[in-house]
Amino acid sequence: MVTTTTQNPTLDELRWCAERARVPRLRSIRQFAVDELVVPEGQYRGLKLRIHRQPWVGLLLDELASGRWRRSAVLGCVQSGKTLIAFVLLVLYYLFECRESVIVGLPTMDVAADKWRDELLPAIEATRYRDLVPRTGPGSRGGTSNLTAIKFTNGRVLRFMTGAGRDETRSSYTARVVIVTEADKMDTAGEASREADPVSQLEARTFSWDAPQRRCHQECTVSIREGRIWQEHTAGSASRIACPCPHCGGWVTPEREHLVGWQEAEDEMAATAGARFCCPSCGQAITPEERIEMNRRAALVHRGQTIGTDGAVSGPLPRTWTLGFRWNAFNNLFWSPGAIGAREWRAARAENEEEAKKEMLQFWWAQPYQPPELDITPLSFDDLIRRQAPAELRKGFVPSWCEHVTMGVDVGKWTCWWVLIAWAADGRGHLVDYNTFTVPSKDRRVEQAVLDALREFRDEAVLPGWPVIGSDQTRSPDAVWIDARYQGEAVYAFVAESDRRFAPVLGCGTGRHYPKPYRKPKRRSRQVQLIGDHYHVVWLADHDAHVFEIDADHWKTQLHEGLAAPQEAPGAITLYHSTDRNEHTAIAKHFTAEKQVEEFQPGLGTVHRWERVRKKNHWFDCGNYAGVAGHFCGVRVVRPPQPEPEAPPPRRPPLRTPDGRPYLITER
Ligand SMILES: [Zn+2]
Repeated sequence: MVTTTTQNPTLDELRWCAERARVPRLRSIRQFAVDELVVPEGQYRGLKLRIHRQPWVGLLLDELASGRWRRSAVLGCVQSGKTLIAFVLLVLYYLFECRESVIVGLPTMDVAADKWRDELLPAIEATRYRDLVPRTGPGSRGGTSNLTAIKFTNGRVLRFMTGAGRDETRSSYTARVVIVTEADKMDTAGEASREADPVSQLEARTFSWDAPQRRCHQECTVSIREGRIWQEHTAGSASRIACPCPHCGGWVTPEREHLVGWQEAEDEMAATAGARFCCPSCGQAITPEERIEMNRRAALVHRGQTIGTDGAVSGPLPRTWTLGFRWNAFNNLFWSPGAIGAREWRAARAENEEEAKKEMLQFWWAQPYQPPELDITPLSFDDLIRRQAPAELRKGFVPSWCEHVTMGVDVGKWTCWWVLIAWAADGRGHLVDYNTFTVPSKDRRVEQAVLDALREFRDEAVLPGWPVIGSDQTRSPDAVWIDARYQGEAVYAFVAESDRRFAPVLGCGTGRHYPKPYRKPKRRSRQVQLIGDHYHVVWLADHDAHVFEIDADHWKTQLHEGLAAPQEAPGAITLYHSTDRNEHTAIAKHFTAEKQVEEFQPGLGTVHRWERVRKKNHWFDCGNYAGVAGHFCGVRVVRPPQPEPEAPPPRRPPLRTPDGRPYLITER
């Protein structure tokens, strides 16, 4: 358009205004999205975007359009339209509606090629802007080579920049808008740089614009707390999506722990049928229909703000330019509660539970994953299920070479677990058998039920013994150590009425699931009648019982080393042979239910402790008791403590080894 100037300033002014008026007013990003965006994949493929399908989209776009925020950090669950809304839509809006060049930051140029081919190009081609895609040069004809800059026929440039390149490659190009995808991965990619981190460097590309004009949008699946997106989110507005509960009227934000009904399900179908959300405030169940309605009425509450029962948000905006926006599985209406519950149910039973939990947290609930401390456990689940003794050592058969047989028992309310190990004098071990027996707690007091169950197990299994290979003999264990932590009274009563092979045991350790750490007594005394290798025996006068207190940290390491050692090595422990590849899956889960972690503790320095990663570790405890019992029986050279003259003589019956010898023998 040609503007001619006249000698009349007023006329000039009017003419200028008229020209400006012809420039179409920019639509808001929400309006643009609704008018132009076409869903490129999934169940709504080919259809225009409709906010009511995913109400969080409306909350996000209204915030972005509000003009309050110069920056945004957006994190949400996968398969909810996250990339389409928080990345593709923004790129399209600035390129085609605002007609501006855009810098897109991503971890590598391989990711750039993927994003262009799989996300951006299909989305553009679904809109009326498809004609703006260049016909020659980078980005034309579906090509993905040399994608550094794609120049559209409207003259605007989409400039890809990575976090991995040399710093100079980023420093020569400027734009008002930077859009970063997979932000957490960029931080890692740029660790080698001694300059500022890659995302900050990219953001510096906007610094030739006035601060209020600049825009920096980041989007990512959450990784860990220290990751960029979580940090930006929490330091930013840390906004939450508040939904009105139909029962109590509270404006609540359900999270992972509020999905219930799948945990106890028998199978995946039951988990699907049973899964339901509950209100975090009143605990009432929320039907699938109520959940949809709650999301459609949702409001956004920024950090420090409150929301009244009438839905009115009050309190000042947090003092930040960054919108921190997050949604989770509750807000993803593409998933039903049943589908989420089924997924959780599968994850809880995955072979690699920790990995599955991480995936659920990050991808489904948009929560950071807290990695366990450094794991220094040598034993892996996969190695363990493959570990098998020679074919003749089938389930329940005691090898002829065995010197001692020991058993560990763990006591529960409904079930007791046991492990039977045969030992050679040189320390080799063989896991002969393991199983559970039922505690009839339904029809009597738990103490009585435990006592009865132990009696029955003793009389019907332990005393008859297990067959020895190559003979018609059976072998009964030399020592049966029973965990006295849970049902002490019942266990002490049982031990008192049984022969001396049966003994109560108390595990001590630095892990959080132990009542106390192990402390080696300084000397023998009236109570401490024996100090062994990381275990000792305490006389409990009240219970008329000798109790083994063991250093579970130490002995669990020994057991793991035995299970991880090459099968021919001294001290190696084998598992009975089975043709079923899945035979040892369950016990392998128990044996790897705890990890040894190295941790710095103020005042103590670096400690190694065993922490649970799975709840069910019973057979691990049993194997551990059987291992210490083996040591006690003499599997390794037992070094009794030197007689200490100052210690008073034992008042109660002297401690004897299971075969009846007094423990304080003079040989060493
Ligand atoms: Zn409620």
